Amino acid sequence: VSVERIEIIATLRERLSRSKKAGERIALVPTMGALHRGHGRLLERARAECDCLVASIFVNPLQFDRQDDLDRYPRTLEADLDMCSAHGVNVTFVPPAAEMYPSKPLCTVAIAELGDHLCGRYRPGHFQGMATVVLKLFDIVQPHVAYFGEKDAQQLAIIRRMVDDFNVPIAIEGVPTVREEDGLAISSRNQRLSADERKLAPSLYRALCMVAGEIAKGATDVQAITRRAAAAIPDQPSLRLEYLDIVDTRTMQPLTTIAGPSLVAGALWVGTTRLIDNVRCLPPGES
Ligand code: AMP
Repeated sequence: VSVERIEIIATLRERLSRSKKAGERIALVPTMGALHRGHGRLLERARAECDCLVASIFVNPLQFDRQDDLDRYPRTLEADLDMCSAHGVNVTFVPPAAEMYPSKPLCTVAIAELGDHLCGRYRPGHFQGMATVVLKLFDIVQPHVAYFGEKDAQQLAIIRRMVDDFNVPIAIEGVPTVREEDGLAISSRNQRLSADERKLAPSLYRALCMVAGEIAKGATDVQAITRRAAAAIPDQPSLRLEYLDIVDTRTMQPLTTIAGPSLVAGALWVGTTRLIDNVRCLPPGES
């Protein structure tokens, strides 16, 4: 069975108006394609909780701060459509860039301090571009619910806040990170890693787990904890830790001392590939 594939906004709106008239609950899973088991988990969750499942596949040029990253981003549309079909997606929305951006947008979503730290510090304009395309997709599809991965924790925090700030009537569901057996968070970018790089890639997750372990045992001094974790990244020429920070789970602001739930997040360059990951931390006695 091949999945329904729509490229034009007006066509999609017409298709979904039928579902809405029939009283169906509509779910949206936004993706940039190169679908893997992480996306698969989002689709499974959504499938179980809605009537009409829409998956969007769009490599959003607006959220890439580096042209080479956009050019090298994996594109596997045929396999993606097969995967959508296998996961019971009803409609795929695969717009050409000119459909989403007939001209350069003059109105975009500005992110205040939620975007100041972690990835926001190192990828200028990234979250603005991401939030802009997500808001466009929300307005185009008008789903009841949308699903996002916790792997991109800052993205999820920004989207949650965006729907609050703009009164967008869409429920936002977060889905836990899907990992390889050695802990590496599954990502479309993993397929760019060489065999040697792939072996080193889980060191980011290990360092994040080390932080969570120390905090669970009662460590509170953030600077000392993150210094030890950064030192645990192997001293290899192909590895460069961009950041490793402990932040408030909701505001994404850096903490200096641990007094409750927190999030440790990091970005690691492995060769020319940038990987991100995060782990939630709880001090002793909290669950
Ligand atoms: P992307 O195609 O990378 O923009 O990701 C689309 C959605 O899938 C985002 O909400 C991501 O957070 C989510 N996602 C990507 N990788 C994973 C993973 N390993 N586990 C859970 N969700 C993921």
